[in-house]
Amino acid sequence: MDSNSLKASNIRTLEGKVALITGGASGIGESTARLFVRHGAKVLIADIQDELGNSICQQLGTQETISYVHCDVTSDSDVRNVVDLAVSKYGKLDIMFNNAGVGNAEASVVDADIKNFKKVVDVNLFGGFLGAKHAARVMIPAKKGCILFTASVSSVLGGSVGYSYVASKHALVGLAKNLCVELGQHGIRVNCISPYVVATPLSREAIFMGMEKEILESVTHKAGNLKGKVLESEDVAEAALYLASDESKYVSGVNLMVDGGYSITNAALRMTIQSLMS
Ligand code: NAD
Repeated sequence: MDSNSLKASNIRTLEGKVALITGGASGIGESTARLFVRHGAKVLIADIQDELGNSICQQLGTQETISYVHCDVTSDSDVRNVVDLAVSKYGKLDIMFNNAGVGNAEASVVDADIKNFKKVVDVNLFGGFLGAKHAARVMIPAKKGCILFTASVSSVLGGSVGYSYVASKHALVGLAKNLCVELGQHGIRVNCISPYVVATPLSREAIFMGMEKEILESVTHKAGNLKGKVLESEDVAEAALYLASDESKYVSGVNLMVDGGYSITNAALRMTIQSLMS
């Protein structure tokens, strides 16, 4: 048995834990649901894609281990209900993964569609706020818990994608910082995960205008800092696993970049000089 299969078969870092994953019917959320179940967690997927969400649950286990609930993260009552359901069905809520998101590619502030801007902020930021608010309500009495957000490289960089997306992701990190300070007193950890581009429906359809998966991966590899590897949703799930597990018991207030170093580089000057010299 190689070291990877030994790791997969023996170590279940979330045994006994209950996780709620918003946006768990697709992409990063789906990969995280799969990984969390494999690591012994009971998982509740909250999404608006009912067919997809239900079919993933059927593939992954029984109602005892994983279930799907329709939940629009922008609805206070939906988020309240799903948090309460986690507690009534599985007895508690240890991990709240606020991952649901939508994208937008508006290029110019002048032409930006106001309704669309509000929708992106509503899902990406307000949805995360509601998730944290209701999770905190049940985690505070338990004096423990882990709240995670999927932010983005766009939480620290401007200019790569649209206004609403960049603004919502920057704000999510601010929200997480405030939560980290208030909830630390109650034993609750709060962190963000910030991936570089992963070829998912969100990135392909909403941000990169329907680009084929292979083309998007090739373009982002070319633009990326770390060569020879392509970021996949499973890699982001591994970061979520670490932050959700007791392995990270003293890690709070972090915005963990899963970007191969992209956000600390700026090759523009070097590339401009190179192009002038060639
Ligand atoms: P995805 O499209 O595969 O998944 C997003 C999920 O969110 C979908 O299942 C969708 O139905 C759900 N969702 C959308 N609106 C919702 C709502 N109102 N209520 C409940 N669920 C809703 O995309 P993904 O790339 O896996 O996105 C997951 C998160 O990762 C998002 O927050 C996104 O901003 C972030 N992210 C993605 C990338 C990327 O390149 N794919 C990079 C950085 C960050």
